[in-house]
Amino acid sequence: MTQILLIEDEPLISAFIAKGLKAAGFGCAVGSTGQAGLATARSSQIDLIILDVGLPDMSGLDVLAHLRGEGFTTPVIILTARSSAQDTVAGLVGGADDYMGKPFSFDELLARVRLRLRSHRTAAPGALVHDDISLDLLTRRVHVAGREQDLSAREFALLETFLRHPGQVLSREQLLSAVMGFRFRSRFQHCRRLRSLLASKDRP
Ligand code: CA
Repeated sequence: MTQILLIEDEPLISAFIAKGLKAAGFGCAVGSTGQAGLATARSSQIDLIILDVGLPDMSGLDVLAHLRGEGFTTPVIILTARSSAQDTVAGLVGGADDYMGKPFSFDELLARVRLRLRSHRTAAPGALVHDDISLDLLTRRVHVAGREQDLSAREFALLETFLRHPGQVLSREQLLSAVMGFRFRSRFQHCRRLRSLLASKDRP
């Protein structure tokens, strides 16, 4: 699962962003100080960092300087107050890949997250492909017969499990572990919807 580290000290903002990222199928770790964020970045496999500039113990720009100084090439999107063009410029000069001015819409942030993951993924083994179905594990996008399909996080998890076991009959336990925590009835609704999607008209 693609892991995003959010370094943000305001609990309402971090809860809002983390909830949205999880709903979009990403893993999300939160650090509420610069030091906590750096510790997580150093100890975990992180695919992208969303970094607030105004942190209680140090500036987000200093966090960025530490990361780049230590050789981390992880994409970083900085969050700045709308008015603070200086922070934005300093962030980009300091090695940020993108920025968002606060307040922002979550959809826009999500679009930037996907864009940055996609441009960074050159070396990453991020795709599962079977016939004309392709699933990008980093950007959480699915194409069937060349068309992008909009899947929920649960459907994505199920499809990922199917594509990791091509041609196999999967046990109930395997499907359960793929969608752990999802309600029993909805799992089968998702299976049904996936089945009809994958059997859509344009396929041979
Ligand atoms: Ca802040």
